[in-house]
Amino acid sequence: MPRASGRKTAVAGATKRAAAARRTRPAARPSGAQGPRLRARAIARALKRLYPETRIALHFGDPFQLYLATVLSAQCTDVMVNRVTPELFARYPSPAALAAAPRESIEALIRPTGFFRNKAKSIQEGARRVAEVYGGQLPGTMDELLTVAGVGRKTANVILGNAFGVPGIPVDTHVQRLTQRLGLTREQDPVKIEFELMALLPRREWTDFSHRLIDHGRAVCQARKPRCAECALLALCPAGRKSTRGAGP
Ligand code: SF4
Repeated sequence: MPRASGRKTAVAGATKRAAAARRTRPAARPSGAQGPRLRARAIARALKRLYPETRIALHFGDPFQLYLATVLSAQCTDVMVNRVTPELFARYPSPAALAAAPRESIEALIRPTGFFRNKAKSIQEGARRVAEVYGGQLPGTMDELLTVAGVGRKTANVILGNAFGVPGIPVDTHVQRLTQRLGLTREQDPVKIEFELMALLPRREWTDFSHRLIDHGRAVCQARKPRCAECALLALCPAGRKSTRGAGP
C-alpha cells in the first residue's frame, strides 16, 4: 500500500519512466493474422516494458482514504489532490469523524480541487454510509461500493484494484483516448470500453494495464499533441501510423 515514505521515489521513478517511454525502441508489429486479443497482449507487453513499476499516483493509507482521494480527483490533477488530502486525512481520521464534521469545514479544506461543494457533499454522505452501514470499513466489492456516494464503476475499479488487490479496469479519459487510438475499441461509453478490455486481457493484468495507459497518456500520448513519431507503440497503433504517414525527412 503506498505510504508517504515512497513518494519522492515514485516521482523520480515517473520522470525516468517518461524519458524511457520516449527512447525505448519501437514494439514489434504483430502480423495481420493476429486477432484483437493478441494485439491487446502485444500492447500490454510493450507498455510493461515502458512502465515496469507503474502505480497509482494518488496518495492514501487505507481504502477509505483512497475513496476520498478518488472522488476529489474528478476534474482535478492528482498532484493537487495529493496536496489537499494530508490535512483532510489528519483532520478527519475516520468515516465517523468526517460524517460529523461541519460541511463548511470540509468545503474549505478541499476547495482547491474544484467543484468543492458537490465533492464535500459526496464524501460526507459516503462517510456517513460507511460509518452507519459498513461499520466504519469501506466495503471491498463492486456492488457494495456502488452504494457509496460518489462511486461509479470507474472509482470502484480504482479502489478495488489499488486498495483491495481485486483486478479492475478503471476507464478514465486517458484510458478511453488511448484504447481508441490504439484500435482496441470503437466504443465511446467508458463502461462498454471497460468490458471490451476485460475480454481482451487476462484478469491479473487489468489494474496495471490501466495504470500504464495513464502513464503513457501523460508522458507521450497526450490528448492534444500525441508524440507519435517518438512513441514506442507506433508500430502497434493505427492512429499513430495514420498521423505519421508521409511524415519524415
Ligand atoms: S503512436 Fe501516437 S496515437 Fe498511438 S499511442 Fe503512440 S502517441 Fe498515441
